[in-house]
Amino acid sequence: MADANTRPPLYIRIHAADNVAIVANDGGLKAGTAFDDGLVLVDTVPQGHKVALVDLAEGDAIRRYNVVIGYALKALPRGSWVHERVMRMPVAPELDGLPIATVKPPALPPLEGYTFEGYRNADGSVGTRNILAITQTVQCVAGVTEFAVQRIKAELLPKYPNVDDVVALEHSYGCGVAIDAPDAIVPIRTLRNISLNPNFGGEVMVVSLGCEKLQPERLLPPGTIPIADQRGAPADDLDVVCLQDDAHVGFMSMIDSVMRQAETHLTRLNKRRRETVPASELVVGVQCGGSDAFSGVTANPAVGFCTDLLVRAGATVMFSEVTEVRDGIDQLTSRAATPEVADAMIREMAWYDAYLDKGRVDRSANTTPGNKKGGLSNIVEKAMGSIVKSGSAPITGVLAPGEKLAHKGLIYAATPASDFICGTLQLAAGMNLHVFTTGRGTPYGLAEVPVIKVATRSDLARRWHDLMDVNAGRIADGEASIEDIGWEMFRLMLDVASGRKKTWAEHWKLHNALVLFNPAPVT
Ligand code: CA
Repeated sequence: MADANTRPPLYIRIHAADNVAIVANDGGLKAGTAFDDGLVLVDTVPQGHKVALVDLAEGDAIRRYNVVIGYALKALPRGSWVHERVMRMPVAPELDGLPIATVKPPALPPLEGYTFEGYRNADGSVGTRNILAITQTVQCVAGVTEFAVQRIKAELLPKYPNVDDVVALEHSYGCGVAIDAPDAIVPIRTLRNISLNPNFGGEVMVVSLGCEKLQPERLLPPGTIPIADQRGAPADDLDVVCLQDDAHVGFMSMIDSVMRQAETHLTRLNKRRRETVPASELVVGVQCGGSDAFSGVTANPAVGFCTDLLVRAGATVMFSEVTEVRDGIDQLTSRAATPEVADAMIREMAWYDAYLDKGRVDRSANTTPGNKKGGLSNIVEKAMGSIVKSGSAPITGVLAPGEKLAHKGLIYAATPASDFICGTLQLAAGMNLHVFTTGRGTPYGLAEVPVIKVATRSDLARRWHDLMDVNAGRIADGEASIEDIGWEMFRLMLDVASGRKKTWAEHWKLHNALVLFNPAPVT
């Protein structure tokens, strides 16, 4: 294996029809560098950035992933650095006249015999962790709940060794919001469905203030907690600690109430035991953040291969991030299993176009300075690299933001691309394992579900050796194939889901906040 600095100059072209490729070498390559095929760099090109493979005239289409990602703003001779300042972005595809369920991908052979050790719930779902989650109706109670959680961790948790953690589901919704606005359904159902995430075992307890708009019965109407019926409690027997209750005299009486109620749930959670379940019980949410040009070359294609493995095993995979699929919507509607799925996808795109339009922006507001520094010139290029996470299986379902999964398979869960909002909405959908790819690097993690982080480049994996769980950069280094890394991820998922392995984010307890998507007005 050559040292990173002595490797011969290498570029990566994704598709034979592409007229640009990206420079693979760490640190980029200097002007004058000659490649084996005779290409000579006219400019110095940073790692992950594009080089023109042919002479491009002004106005010529620039193709990557066999898709037009832009038009040359000036003549770009062969060997030129092609970046966002020398190209114009194409307009977003129309939502009319899209190909609907036209592609019938070859049936993938079933993948049998793979299992993990999970916590089977009364509603049939399976948890990968055993966590007491404390739901809150309003931000006002967050400080009190957190105080109680610290005491629960110190004083109660050691008595219940089968319980992994206690987590306060903190958020900023509940008052100062237009709760009757049609779009208020999004944050409300998100909170409701997060409370029902498989990792919490159906043990829903709520801390309420008393005067808030989002009353406990509105958050969790009778009948929404399936497990309550299972254990013989009446369906409307919601466990609520209300801070304004007359019974509470002094702060400590509130803390005592929260701890007393927590103990009843901990007692039941502590009885849960892992059992062998088929890999089909995995519910994996995939997303990317801090992306670079390698995301779409190494980590995301490997996730895509793993997505196919999971779907073949009968599991559920959600991919999301509306602005990162908007430019490839034709690829997705054509891969929809049915016209209804394609229509639902178009409906979500149209809703999001209107949402962005209201703020007088479009999907191009997605890209960050870091994306561009990493070689991603615009959202079209970013989207093409993002979509590959979805693999090749037919898309069998669509979720609107905050909705809960109703069936298995490859699901498009419409969410913003914001890492925290996407993760929060995938939690609400019912994910029990999270996969996150990053090129620039992010220490992202969630308290509610294990997060497996995948580095797109070996340089990042080396520097962040105790934060990244998988190094997909080995694909660009020629040391592993997309399939190798895909299988490695699949096996790691089964280990992490079983609790046999912890992710680095779990090890260090790196927990990002839940962030609700509230498209409704705030008052
Ligand atoms: Ca993201």
